[in-house]
Amino acid sequence: MDFTYQYTDEQQDFRKEVRTWLAENIPTDMRAPVDRMELTDVQYDFWREMHKTLAAKGWLYPTYPKEYGGGGLSGEQETILQEEFRDARVVGGFTNSLVFPTLLVWADDDQKEMFLKPLLSAEKVAFQNFTEPNAGSDLASLQARAVRDGDDWLITGQKIYISGVREPDLLFGPMVTDTDAPRHRNLGYFMVPCPAGGLAQERMNLLSGDDQSVFFFDNVRVQGDHLIGGDHQGWQVTQTTLEIEHGGRGQAIPRDEALENLIDYVQNTKSDGAPLGDDPLVQQTAVSAYIDSHVFSLLNTRNYGMYQARQEMTYHGSQSSMFGKIYRIENADRSRDIMGMYSVCGTDEPRAPFGGQPEVYQRSSLVGAHPAGTIEIQKVIIARRIGISRTRERAAATPSTAGASTG
Ligand SMILES: Cc1cc2nc3c(=O)[nH]c(=O)nc-3n(C[C@H](O)[C@H](O)[C@H](O)COP(=O)(O)OP(=O)(O)OC[C@H]3O[C@@H](n4cnc5c(N)ncnc54)[C@H](O)[C@@H]3O)c2cc1C
Repeated sequence: MDFTYQYTDEQQDFRKEVRTWLAENIPTDMRAPVDRMELTDVQYDFWREMHKTLAAKGWLYPTYPKEYGGGGLSGEQETILQEEFRDARVVGGFTNSLVFPTLLVWADDDQKEMFLKPLLSAEKVAFQNFTEPNAGSDLASLQARAVRDGDDWLITGQKIYISGVREPDLLFGPMVTDTDAPRHRNLGYFMVPCPAGGLAQERMNLLSGDDQSVFFFDNVRVQGDHLIGGDHQGWQVTQTTLEIEHGGRGQAIPRDEALENLIDYVQNTKSDGAPLGDDPLVQQTAVSAYIDSHVFSLLNTRNYGMYQARQEMTYHGSQSSMFGKIYRIENADRSRDIMGMYSVCGTDEPRAPFGGQPEVYQRSSLVGAHPAGTIEIQKVIIARRIGISRTRERAAATPSTAGASTG
């Protein structure tokens, strides 16, 4: 079966328009560095402004509704944009876009004006504010508290591993609003404006760099209308975010730069005068990498199609998420085995292949096993969704956002 997508003439014209515009408007020295940690302040400032321009053209968040600042474009156009953006090394939006479907489903009209519009237009940036030192995989054991104070809330606690470049304008996530209520019924979901009195941000230093922060809340005042959903509906709101985070949105034709580089290396490198690809062991390793990458691509494309068609999804998101986390670690090892020790040298080593991309991949594939639910947690979700879990008595999380008017 041929899975190659056949674009219409109109769609190919759109591709040409995007490609030409990017070539004319993105200077070479502003293109995404191989290691995202090497994004300079000048580049960051350039992209903060450029994202506003791209958003105004409808290209930054293409499939979200126009009325809130999205592009109102089709899934095919989004795919074309993604393909052209990656070739032009466009730096993606700084907002964690998981918040968009959540706001579309749960925010009231005023809140959509207040939060969704400035985020989709790239005026503001939001980070996902979920994990705590004692609540990661078991998110429902959160401890950060939000206490009523007149019409406002006062938030106290600590959040950790919060991803995002530089500083956010908003943090989104659940806090305990009722310490007496049982798990899952004790949370509210807040949009916290930043900076704020009593709020401190400290950078972490993970293997993948320092795009994660710890946030300390000490009686941080948040207005009552910044609560999304009801006082104790935070768990359901959180599930809308997590369904997408666990792979539920999919991605059409996701590109695998690491695989492309590996195949390029095997095809174009000689060992003792003979092409590297003549070695049966290299062939086998490279083909295994190729197959795994393509299986992941198919799972992701299937999810994207289901999401766009508003089909009910159950295990599908976690299946691709789990597979993606496992095969990336394996392919990083395979690349290292084939390319040798220079592939573990970073971007500052001139002899590192592909400008140091394999080294960045080594680190990011390992770190990537954790965010958005670990490999084990994806297995737990799959088991529950296909009815083979030992914890059947626990209700599965709210099913997909299928039917919601999200992009
Ligand atoms: C690079 C990175 C970016 C991140 N970005 C964000 C972000 O933007 N916002 C945010 O809120 N959080 C973020 N996180 C946090 C991430 O969601 C958590 O790290 C993750 O949920 C795991 O939680 P934990 O680290 O507390 O590990 P734990 O929950 O303590 O788990 C430790 C180990 O135990 C295993 N385990 C736990 N429970 C079970 C179980 N029931 N069955 C089997 N095994 C189990 C886990 O798989 C893991 O291997 C990020 C993390 C990383 C590493």
